Amino acid sequence: MIPFNRPYTTGRELTYIEEACRNMHLSGDGVFTRKCHHLLERDIGSCKALLTHSCTASLEMAALLLNLAQGDEVIMPSYTFVSTANAFVLRGAVPVFVDIREDTLNLDENLIEAAITPRTKAICVVHYAGVACEMDAIMAVAGKYGLAVVEDAAQGIRSSYRGKPLGSIGTLGCLSFHETKNAISGEGGALLINDARLVDRAEIIREKGTNRSRFFRGQIDKYTWIDVGSSYLPSELTAAFLLAQLEDIEELTRRRLSIWTAYHEWAAEHEASGLVRRPIIPTHCGHNAHLYYLLLPSLSRRQAFIASMKESGVLAVFHYVPLHSTPAGMKYGRAHGSLDVTNRISDRLVRLPLWVGIESQFDTVLAACDKGLADAASEQVAD
Ligand SMILES: *Cc1c(COP(=O)(O)O)cnc(C)c1O
Repeated sequence: MIPFNRPYTTGRELTYIEEACRNMHLSGDGVFTRKCHHLLERDIGSCKALLTHSCTASLEMAALLLNLAQGDEVIMPSYTFVSTANAFVLRGAVPVFVDIREDTLNLDENLIEAAITPRTKAICVVHYAGVACEMDAIMAVAGKYGLAVVEDAAQGIRSSYRGKPLGSIGTLGCLSFHETKNAISGEGGALLINDARLVDRAEIIREKGTNRSRFFRGQIDKYTWIDVGSSYLPSELTAAFLLAQLEDIEELTRRRLSIWTAYHEWAAEHEASGLVRRPIIPTHCGHNAHLYYLLLPSLSRRQAFIASMKESGVLAVFHYVPLHSTPAGMKYGRAHGSLDVTNRISDRLVRLPLWVGIESQFDTVLAACDKGLADAASEQVAD
């Protein structure tokens, strides 16, 4: 079986972990964490980057930093991972689900204004597949209504919007280093802070509501509990693993892009004959080849394609179940409008395996894809 995902290691992860062990500093915020912070700040340009133990944790920190409370509303897509919504629901806020664009499958910036109410406090955008949302329009509407913008850039490391790195544009950005993402540490994430006024409190929230970070920098002579918070920092072992990945992120992205392009070129003729729709990347969006998807004409064809791929020994998967249609989404959130595009897209989308190292088996993968599309097309006739 060719797996859907296979974690890639650069070869230096264990060396760095060994070094962390020799340093005798295994808890958070040691030398490896600082090196990761430095690389992220240098490459993304946020005024502060803080490692966390997941993108989920980064989103929770964002909800705390923005003081979201019972009944506040946060505008977001329904077509996303559960953490985007959960982080705000944990504070008692209400996700307001807005439809996505047909081309990029990102939050439709033209529908945001109509979803704003007196309770709206923030917009949480998701850069799906590492392709940027229309940030100029989104920042403009946020500015007009005084709303914070959180970028769920879980999939967006090394991607850009009009030359600006994703995660650096909104008030706060959230990255994921989960093993399914482009740079990994098993579980892991980072909070990117683009408003200098939020930096001190972010450090406090991340350190259980204490000012321990200032204590360790020698800025105060004892530390104490001063705010709400939790333990959101990863250990040095995780940071050591991550450093090896971040040092190679350019090369990793280049290799992913060449696989992405090979899929895209293969799919061109199938798009021309109407069997699939390929991803659409606006020219002002620099993307990171986080994932490659195809849109099939219907749910039954999508399911037939996945089944055929599996028979050929290649695992393809779909996501997401739109949040507004889930039990928790209905209980804690609210749909704005029909969410027509979301409903149609989520039935038709399939993700193909894309991981560094798959190159040597790529002929097998494409042969399975060809057969999958043929099988899916005959399924339609049988319907
Ligand atoms: C992966 C992902 C997350 C969650 O990331 P974790 O690091 O696993 O918590 C959140 N949002 C989106 C859009 C994701 O793809």
